[in-house]
Amino acid sequence: MAVHKPPRGRRGIGGAMTKRILVVEDNDLNRKLFCDVLQASGFAVEPVADGAVAIERAKAFFPNLVIMDIQLQDISGLDLIAGLKSDSQLCDIPVLAVTAYAGKGDEERIREVGAEGYLAKPVSITPFMNAVRGLLAGNANSAPIPLHA
Ligand code: MN
Repeated sequence: MAVHKPPRGRRGIGGAMTKRILVVEDNDLNRKLFCDVLQASGFAVEPVADGAVAIERAKAFFPNLVIMDIQLQDISGLDLIAGLKSDSQLCDIPVLAVTAYAGKGDEERIREVGAEGYLAKPVSITPFMNAVRGLLAGNANSAPIPLHA
């Protein structure tokens, strides 16, 4: 795959800067749902099904936000978040973790590795988009915390 420069400065319809979102999710239906919803809101999305290439794709796409599934096939999303956060090029990109498990310990582990936002699956559209917009606006502290106990 050819390495391309991050498409900084690309302008979307209406002249607004198009924000790029990397969607790392191994479930086909969830990945398509996230991407469809984000595209419908005007974001440029890069879907990644295979967690093993997530870091490399992040370096090529240089997203404004990463959506990270925690339960991936051969790698934990927690390890990928830690990898992003330890990379000098990628560490400032906010990460929204999504996980099927909503235990208190899970949320703490997700926070510990440096994710700025966290949503429990099943993810509803409105809280998802609120989290996305909040993180893109730099409001890590206002990013939503688990929807259910
Ligand atoms: Mn998964």
